[in-house]
Amino acid sequence: MSGVRMLLVAACALVDADRRVLLAQRPEGKQLAGLWEFPGGKVEPGERPEACLIRELREELGIETWESCLAPLTFASHAYDDFHLLMPLYVCRRFEGIPRGLEGQALKWVRPRDMRDYPMPPADLPLIAPLIDLL
Ligand code: C5P
Repeated sequence: MSGVRMLLVAACALVDADRRVLLAQRPEGKQLAGLWEFPGGKVEPGERPEACLIRELREELGIETWESCLAPLTFASHAYDDFHLLMPLYVCRRFEGIPRGLEGQALKWVRPRDMRDYPMPPADLPLIAPLIDLL
């Protein structure tokens, strides 16, 4: 059977005390290298998006957070050429540790209204407006 491949990626807007949001730059060698995105990653089979984010934030940034600190905000749905991406965005204001780019990715705390200065994957762009409204 043929069809469109669906990909579920969970993304997180980490928010600091100054209401800035953490963006991570996709490293060289990855698809969409150089673009800035919300941290997160692919949801594994049988995994809940919240558990995925807790795992990805630990692996990619070395921080700890908890399910009660992940608030769903909005949802991206984007057709790439070779797959369709579904991407819920969570907001997290409470976490332990200082984010570090453990996979070589550059990190930047950005005010939501400045986020459009950072080139992002097309799927991420519609997530900016709800974040500006929230913060
Ligand atoms: O991060 P990863 O490479 O596992 O994500 C799979 C695909 O999902 C990427 O190649 C990219 O096309 C898309 N993606 C996106 N925006 C993100 C994360 C992933 O468009 N924030």
